[in-house]
Amino acid sequence: MSELDLKVFDSHFHGYGISGKGEDWTPKIREILEGGEICGMLCCTDLRCRHEDFEETNKTLLELAKEKGRKILPLAAMLHPDKNASWRRHAEKWFDNHAELSAIKMKPEIGGIPVHPDYMDPVFEFANERDIPIVTHTQPERAYSAINYIESLKKFRKTKLVLYHASLNEEAAYLAASFPNVYVEPSWLAFNPNFFHMIGNFGAYSKMLAGTDGPGWFAGFKGSPYEDLVSRAKELIRPGNEQAITDFCRNNALRLLNI
Ligand SMILES: [Zn+2]
Repeated sequence: MSELDLKVFDSHFHGYGISGKGEDWTPKIREILEGGEICGMLCCTDLRCRHEDFEETNKTLLELAKEKGRKILPLAAMLHPDKNASWRRHAEKWFDNHAELSAIKMKPEIGGIPVHPDYMDPVFEFANERDIPIVTHTQPERAYSAINYIESLKKFRKTKLVLYHASLNEEAAYLAASFPNVYVEPSWLAFNPNFFHMIGNFGAYSKMLAGTDGPGWFAGFKGSPYEDLVSRAKELIRPGNEQAITDFCRNNALRLLNI
Protein backbone atom coordinates (compact mmCIF):
# COMPACT_ATOMS: atom_id res chain seq x y z
CA MET A 1 0.00 0.00 0.00
CA SER A 2 1.34 3.38 -0.94
CA GLU A 3 2.27 6.19 1.43
CA LEU A 4 0.61 8.69 -0.89
CA ASP A 5 -0.99 11.44 1.16
CA LEU A 6 -3.04 12.90 -1.68
CA LYS A 7 -5.31 11.11 -4.11
CA VAL A 8 -4.85 11.98 -7.76
CA PHE A 9 -7.31 12.21 -10.61
CA ASP A 10 -5.34 11.05 -13.64
CA SER A 11 -6.48 13.23 -16.55
CA HIS A 12 -4.43 11.49 -19.21
CA PHE A 13 -4.53 7.73 -19.55
CA HIS A 14 -4.80 5.35 -22.49
CA GLY A 15 -7.22 2.48 -22.88
CA TYR A 16 -5.26 0.29 -25.28
CA GLY A 17 -1.66 -0.44 -26.25
CA ILE A 18 -0.16 1.65 -29.01
CA SER A 19 2.53 -0.87 -29.95
CA GLY A 20 0.41 -2.27 -32.78
CA LYS A 21 0.02 -5.57 -30.94
CA GLY A 22 -3.49 -4.78 -29.78
CA GLU A 23 -2.67 -5.01 -26.06
CA ASP A 24 -5.69 -4.78 -23.81
CA TRP A 25 -4.93 -2.47 -20.91
CA THR A 26 -8.25 -2.84 -19.13
CA PRO A 27 -6.81 -5.24 -16.45
CA LYS A 28 -4.10 -2.65 -15.76
CA ILE A 29 -6.69 0.14 -15.55
CA ARG A 30 -8.79 -1.90 -13.12
CA GLU A 31 -5.74 -2.64 -10.96
CA ILE A 32 -4.82 1.07 -10.79
CA LEU A 33 -8.38 2.16 -10.04
CA GLU A 34 -8.58 -0.36 -7.21
CA GLY A 35 -5.06 0.37 -5.87
CA GLY A 36 -6.06 3.29 -3.66
CA GLU A 37 -3.73 5.93 -5.14
CA ILE A 38 -6.11 7.61 -7.51
CA CYS A 39 -9.70 8.76 -7.32
CA GLY A 40 -10.38 8.33 -11.03
CA MET A 41 -9.03 8.70 -14.52
CA LEU A 42 -9.97 10.17 -17.85
CA CYS A 43 -9.15 7.33 -20.18
CA CYS A 44 -8.70 7.71 -23.94
CA THR A 45 -9.89 5.22 -26.50
CA ASP A 46 -7.59 3.31 -28.79
CA LEU A 47 -5.22 5.38 -30.91
CA ARG A 48 -5.53 2.91 -33.76
CA CYS A 49 -9.31 2.77 -33.78
CA ARG A 50 -11.21 4.20 -36.67
CA HIS A 51 -14.80 5.30 -36.50
CA GLU A 52 -16.44 2.17 -37.90
CA ASP A 53 -14.96 -0.30 -35.46
CA PHE A 54 -14.86 1.86 -32.38
CA GLU A 55 -17.47 -0.14 -30.55
CA GLU A 56 -15.85 -3.48 -31.30
CA THR A 57 -12.25 -2.53 -30.46
CA ASN A 58 -13.24 -0.71 -27.31
CA LYS A 59 -15.86 -3.10 -26.02
CA THR A 60 -14.00 -4.15 -22.86
CA LEU A 61 -13.09 -0.58 -22.08
CA LEU A 62 -16.68 0.57 -22.45
CA GLU A 63 -17.82 -2.29 -20.19
CA LEU A 64 -15.31 -1.36 -17.49
CA ALA A 65 -16.27 2.31 -17.74
CA LYS A 66 -19.93 1.40 -17.35
CA GLU A 67 -19.13 -0.69 -14.28
CA LYS A 68 -17.08 2.08 -12.63
CA GLY A 69 -19.34 4.95 -13.63
CA ARG A 70 -18.44 8.25 -15.23
CA LYS A 71 -17.24 9.84 -11.99
CA ILE A 72 -14.47 7.23 -11.64
CA LEU A 73 -13.73 6.27 -15.24
CA PRO A 74 -14.96 8.83 -17.77
CA LEU A 75 -13.85 8.03 -21.32
CA ALA A 76 -12.54 10.34 -24.01
CA ALA A 77 -13.53 9.11 -27.47
CA MET A 78 -10.92 9.53 -30.16
CA LEU A 79 -12.08 11.59 -33.13
CA HIS A 80 -10.18 11.96 -36.37
CA PRO A 81 -11.04 15.31 -37.98
CA ASP A 82 -11.18 15.16 -41.77
CA LYS A 83 -11.96 17.36 -44.74
CA ASN A 84 -15.68 16.59 -44.99
CA ALA A 85 -16.29 16.27 -41.24
CA SER A 86 -17.40 12.69 -41.92
CA TRP A 87 -16.35 11.82 -38.34
CA ARG A 88 -19.51 13.56 -37.15
CA ARG A 89 -21.96 10.84 -38.16
CA HIS A 90 -20.03 8.24 -36.16
CA ALA A 91 -19.39 10.57 -33.24
CA GLU A 92 -23.11 11.26 -32.88
CA LYS A 93 -23.83 7.55 -32.73
CA TRP A 94 -21.20 6.90 -30.04
CA PHE A 95 -22.12 9.81 -27.85
CA ASP A 96 -25.84 9.09 -28.15
CA ASN A 97 -25.36 5.46 -27.13
CA HIS A 98 -22.61 5.59 -24.51
CA ALA A 99 -23.07 7.82 -21.48
CA GLU A 100 -19.53 6.78 -20.37
CA LEU A 101 -18.12 9.01 -23.12
CA SER A 102 -17.41 12.31 -21.41
CA ALA A 103 -14.84 13.99 -23.65
CA ILE A 104 -13.38 14.09 -27.15
CA LYS A 105 -9.77 13.03 -27.63
CA MET A 106 -7.68 14.20 -30.58
CA LYS A 107 -4.21 13.37 -31.78
CA PRO A 108 -4.39 15.29 -35.04
CA GLU A 109 -0.90 14.41 -36.26
CA ILE A 110 -1.70 10.70 -36.65
CA GLY A 111 -4.24 11.52 -39.34
CA GLY A 112 -1.98 14.12 -40.94
CA ILE A 113 -4.65 16.79 -40.36
CA PRO A 114 -3.21 20.17 -39.33
CA VAL A 115 -4.62 22.01 -36.33
CA HIS A 116 -6.48 24.64 -38.32
CA PRO A 117 -9.97 26.18 -37.92
CA ASP A 118 -11.16 24.45 -41.13
CA TYR A 119 -10.84 21.11 -39.36
CA MET A 120 -11.13 22.10 -35.71
CA ASP A 121 -14.15 24.42 -35.72
CA PRO A 122 -16.61 21.56 -36.43
CA VAL A 123 -15.10 19.58 -33.53
CA PHE A 124 -15.41 22.60 -31.22
CA GLU A 125 -19.00 23.04 -32.36
CA PHE A 126 -19.77 19.38 -31.56
CA ALA A 127 -18.14 19.71 -28.12
CA ASN A 128 -20.23 22.82 -27.40
CA GLU A 129 -23.48 21.12 -28.40
CA ARG A 130 -22.75 18.24 -26.00
CA ASP A 131 -21.08 20.36 -23.32
CA ILE A 132 -18.03 18.10 -23.20
CA PRO A 133 -14.33 18.98 -23.12
CA ILE A 134 -11.82 18.30 -25.88
CA VAL A 135 -8.47 16.83 -24.87
CA THR A 136 -5.70 16.99 -27.44
CA HIS A 137 -2.15 15.87 -27.84
CA THR A 138 0.25 18.76 -28.55
CA GLN A 139 3.84 18.55 -29.69
CA PRO A 140 6.70 20.87 -30.67
CA GLU A 141 5.97 20.80 -34.37
CA ARG A 142 4.53 23.31 -36.82
CA ALA A 143 0.75 22.79 -37.17
CA TYR A 144 0.59 20.65 -34.01
CA SER A 145 1.71 22.98 -31.21
CA ALA A 146 -0.78 24.59 -28.83
CA ILE A 147 -1.02 28.04 -30.45
CA ASN A 148 -2.60 26.55 -33.58
CA TYR A 149 -5.87 26.29 -31.61
CA ILE A 150 -6.11 30.03 -31.01
CA GLU A 151 -8.49 30.97 -33.87
CA SER A 152 -10.97 28.24 -32.91
CA LEU A 153 -10.72 29.27 -29.26
CA LYS A 154 -11.57 32.88 -30.13
CA LYS A 155 -14.75 31.69 -31.85
CA PHE A 156 -15.72 29.05 -29.29
CA ARG A 157 -14.89 30.64 -25.97
CA LYS A 158 -17.08 28.24 -24.00
CA THR A 159 -15.33 25.11 -25.27
CA LYS A 160 -13.15 23.41 -22.70
CA LEU A 161 -9.80 22.43 -24.19
CA VAL A 162 -7.05 20.43 -22.45
CA LEU A 163 -3.58 20.67 -23.97
CA TYR A 164 -1.86 17.36 -23.23
CA HIS A 165 1.93 17.79 -22.78
CA ALA A 166 1.49 21.61 -22.95
CA SER A 167 3.70 22.02 -26.00
CA LEU A 168 5.15 24.45 -26.84
CA ASN A 169 5.36 25.39 -23.18
CA GLU A 170 5.06 29.17 -23.63
CA GLU A 171 2.16 28.82 -26.07
CA ALA A 172 0.26 26.47 -23.77
CA ALA A 173 0.84 28.63 -20.67
CA TYR A 174 -0.32 31.71 -22.60
CA LEU A 175 -3.52 30.00 -23.79
CA ALA A 176 -4.31 28.67 -20.30
CA ALA A 177 -3.86 32.16 -18.86
CA SER A 178 -5.82 33.93 -21.62
CA PHE A 179 -8.84 31.69 -22.22
CA PRO A 180 -11.12 30.81 -19.30
CA ASN A 181 -11.67 27.23 -20.49
CA VAL A 182 -8.18 26.17 -21.57
CA TYR A 183 -6.31 23.73 -19.32
CA VAL A 184 -2.83 22.23 -19.51
CA GLU A 185 -1.59 18.75 -18.60
CA PRO A 186 2.22 18.88 -18.33
CA SER A 187 3.35 15.23 -18.58
CA TRP A 188 6.62 14.67 -20.48
CA LEU A 189 7.17 17.97 -22.29
CA ALA A 190 6.18 20.48 -19.61
CA PHE A 191 7.08 18.85 -16.29
CA ASN A 192 9.87 21.36 -15.77
CA PRO A 193 10.57 24.31 -13.45
CA ASN A 194 10.24 26.90 -16.23
CA PHE A 195 6.72 25.84 -17.21
CA PHE A 196 5.43 25.67 -13.62
CA HIS A 197 7.06 29.05 -12.97
CA MET A 198 5.26 30.59 -15.98
CA ILE A 199 1.92 29.15 -14.85
CA GLY A 200 2.53 30.56 -11.36
CA ASN A 201 3.38 33.99 -12.80
CA PHE A 202 0.22 33.96 -14.89
CA GLY A 203 -1.82 33.05 -11.80
CA ALA A 204 -3.04 29.96 -13.63
CA TYR A 205 -2.48 27.08 -11.20
CA SER A 206 -6.23 26.46 -11.37
CA LYS A 207 -5.78 25.57 -15.05
CA MET A 208 -3.31 22.69 -14.59
CA LEU A 209 -4.31 19.03 -14.53
CA ALA A 210 -2.32 16.04 -13.30
CA GLY A 211 -1.89 13.23 -15.82
CA THR A 212 0.54 10.38 -16.38
CA ASP A 213 0.04 9.54 -20.08
CA GLY A 214 -0.33 6.07 -18.57
CA PRO A 215 0.07 3.29 -18.26
CA GLY A 216 3.63 4.28 -17.66
CA TRP A 217 5.17 7.56 -16.59
CA PHE A 218 8.62 8.87 -17.45
CA ALA A 219 10.69 6.31 -19.34
CA GLY A 220 12.62 3.90 -17.16
CA PHE A 221 10.89 5.08 -13.97
CA LYS A 222 10.39 2.36 -11.38
CA GLY A 223 7.87 2.73 -8.61
CA SER A 224 4.52 4.47 -8.30
CA PRO A 225 3.88 7.14 -10.96
CA TYR A 226 1.39 8.80 -8.61
CA GLU A 227 3.80 9.13 -5.71
CA ASP A 228 6.36 10.58 -8.10
CA LEU A 229 3.82 12.94 -9.67
CA VAL A 230 2.78 14.33 -6.30
CA SER A 231 6.33 14.74 -5.01
CA ARG A 232 7.43 16.47 -8.24
CA ALA A 233 4.39 18.79 -8.08
CA LYS A 234 5.29 19.69 -4.50
CA GLU A 235 8.75 20.74 -5.67
CA LEU A 236 7.58 22.63 -8.75
CA ILE A 237 4.56 24.50 -7.40
CA ARG A 238 5.60 27.43 -5.23
CA PRO A 239 6.39 26.21 -1.70
CA GLY A 240 3.60 26.55 0.78
CA ASN A 241 0.87 26.65 -1.85
CA GLU A 242 -0.91 23.53 -0.58
CA GLN A 243 -4.18 24.48 -2.22
CA ALA A 244 -2.55 24.74 -5.68
CA ILE A 245 -1.02 21.28 -5.22
CA THR A 246 -4.36 19.69 -4.30
CA ASP A 247 -6.11 21.56 -7.12
CA PHE A 248 -3.51 20.37 -9.62
CA CYS A 249 -3.66 16.76 -8.42
CA ARG A 250 -7.43 16.49 -8.30
CA ASN A 251 -9.80 19.43 -7.95
CA ASN A 252 -9.18 21.12 -11.30
CA ALA A 253 -9.98 17.90 -13.17
CA LEU A 254 -13.14 17.27 -11.16
CA ARG A 255 -14.34 20.80 -11.98
CA LEU A 256 -13.50 20.39 -15.67
CA LEU A 257 -15.44 17.12 -15.88
CA ASN A 258 -18.36 18.26 -13.71
CA ILE A 259 -17.68 15.47 -11.21
ZN1 LIG B 1 -1.10 10.29 -24.38
